[in-house]
Amino acid sequence: MKKISRKQFLLAGSGALAGLAAIKYATRDRDINVEYPEVKENAVNLSKNGQSVTIIGGGLSGLMAGCELLDRGFHVTILEKNATLGGRLRSWRDKDFGSPGKGDWKGHNIEHGTHIVFPFYRNFREFLRRHGLTLRNRTVNYPGAAISFAYPNGIIDDRTASKAIAPFHAEAALKDMKYASKEDNDNFGIHQIMKLLSFDPSNEEEVRYLDSISVKEWMNSVGIPDGIVKAFMDPLMDMATFLPADKTHALYLHRMIGSMFGAWQDLYGVQFFQDSTNDSIIQPMADYIAAKGGKIFFDAEVEHINTKNNKVTEVVTKPLKSGQYICPVCGEVHDVMPERCRRCSYSGKNFIVRSAAEPANFRSDHFLLGVDIPSARELLLKPSLNLSERYEKFKDRPTSSIVVVYLWYPRKPSVKGEKINWEDHFGDRECLMTTDFPYLGTTLNLTYLKPETFAGYDADIIETQIAKVERVEGMTDEQIADKIDEDLRNLIPGLPKYIDVRIMKWDNFSAFTIGSEAQCPEMDTAYDNFHLLGDFITAKHNCFLMEKVTVNVRRAVNKLLEQINQQEGKMKILPSETPNFLVNFWRSVESVKA
Ligand SMILES: Cc1cc2nc3c(=O)[nH]c(=O)nc-3n(C[C@H](O)[C@H](O)[C@H](O)COP(=O)(O)OP(=O)(O)OC[C@H]3O[C@@H](n4cnc5c(N)ncnc54)[C@H](O)[C@@H]3O)c2cc1C
Repeated sequence: MKKISRKQFLLAGSGALAGLAAIKYATRDRDINVEYPEVKENAVNLSKNGQSVTIIGGGLSGLMAGCELLDRGFHVTILEKNATLGGRLRSWRDKDFGSPGKGDWKGHNIEHGTHIVFPFYRNFREFLRRHGLTLRNRTVNYPGAAISFAYPNGIIDDRTASKAIAPFHAEAALKDMKYASKEDNDNFGIHQIMKLLSFDPSNEEEVRYLDSISVKEWMNSVGIPDGIVKAFMDPLMDMATFLPADKTHALYLHRMIGSMFGAWQDLYGVQFFQDSTNDSIIQPMADYIAAKGGKIFFDAEVEHINTKNNKVTEVVTKPLKSGQYICPVCGEVHDVMPERCRRCSYSGKNFIVRSAAEPANFRSDHFLLGVDIPSARELLLKPSLNLSERYEKFKDRPTSSIVVVYLWYPRKPSVKGEKINWEDHFGDRECLMTTDFPYLGTTLNLTYLKPETFAGYDADIIETQIAKVERVEGMTDEQIADKIDEDLRNLIPGLPKYIDVRIMKWDNFSAFTIGSEAQCPEMDTAYDNFHLLGDFITAKHNCFLMEKVTVNVRRAVNKLLEQINQQEGKMKILPSETPNFLVNFWRSVESVKA
């Protein structure tokens, strides 16, 4: 229990009572709680202010910053090292995967990870609304499963919340796990669920504490049995951070769970992009930037950042040799034709051949860096910037590796009483979280998830994300596919033989290992006109990944406005959770510590 004064207790208590009375409005009717929140003051279209910004990186953070700054009167230039935009949200078209079409067939979209947009991504959703972009509607509704787990012995466990008032609705979803023993289930109850609720994100001591301890250690410390950790937390963390519960910091768990408990729909409303991320958000953002006069340069890898006094003066791109190959999948530049990604074709080409280019200099009033951890490290730690002391901790901030497997299974004609296809076996479950399989990770059926891309094919297109990549190191694509196929057959014995496979490997996911929060760099650098963007920098805000990218873009936009004394266009940042008075009350009286 936290030590609180009588005054604090009374304040929190009266807040809780007021909250009970207002709960209907707090959880259902307020603007902040709608699927796509509207913030009128964020929708601006200001005339040019004479200021220019160069953004390094054309991923989500660079593109989103570009859109917001153009709306607020800045001249925007984006420098992207690859031939395609999107960064970790990039997708591409593969003309040969599965059963190719005919004539003007553009190919199937392939991407790395089917990205989840949580209901509490309020800032990201507000951006989507302003740009007329939407997510795929969720097909599963109460009393369907909020989440489904799959285990190697064929057990499928659908977790369904109750209709009880939030946060008590969540208890039902966590109780009586099928993969846990009776004893472990008996030892898990409402008192531990209330511990899960007690994290106060504004309490810096709690943030530091949870960053220093793993999910498993924290759970054990409050008496949650290992059987529940294995059944619930390992698959959840595998899906969310690509690390098991003993490697992920407890802060991630609390940020996720805490944000989900405030409202009933926060547990049920998980959504995916409607189609490939390129079609859903990346290309529309690029089109918006072009329509507003922003400039995007491709094959423009920033190699040097030049400074004078306490300002960045210019950035310089890498020279290109003619005849180099750029891999359409990983974006790396090769001197010989890239073997690693050769099987995946982009718009019908196996690779892109670059023409020679001299280094180019880009000057502007402001500079923003929106790249991934390995690239940020390379640029920020160049001796010429003299920042190595400042980034001492960031130097070691880790990334997680993931292997994403796409498998194409033609459907067999259904036979009465036999479960031979995904649908026969799993009905409309579109995503399964897994644990203890030799290879199978979080598994999705893209035939249901990406209707524009895959509808019309009598096939189950299965995506699985292998988090423990060391298990498949050195294997060929076919060997990896056979291992996944074996695990899937453990679940669906009659599955027809897969006919094709595509594999993508990524090693730049911002990891949530123990202590990694303390390794986050600040948005501000030592240079007044140079700021950092992205999902790995600090934000005193309860959010992660794409929502954190959005929050950090807004912080950077507000910083630039403040620096030039521009009053108009200041961005509102929404809380990335639903206010709930009961949760707030509990946070004020209980501590996350055992
Ligand atoms: C497999 C996977 C699954 C994920 N799933 C989810 C999910 O379910 N939900 C969620 O919210 N988030 C998810 N994420 C995280 C999400 O993708 C990221 O938070 C987000 O895309 C980060 O955007 P960014 O712009 O900060 O970085 P990036 O996307 O990495 O973009 C950086 C860009 O900078 C470019 N660049 C790098 N160096 C240079 C240079 N020197 N010069 C010029 N350009 C450069 C890169 O080519 C890239 O285009 C997932 C990520 C991965 C890898």
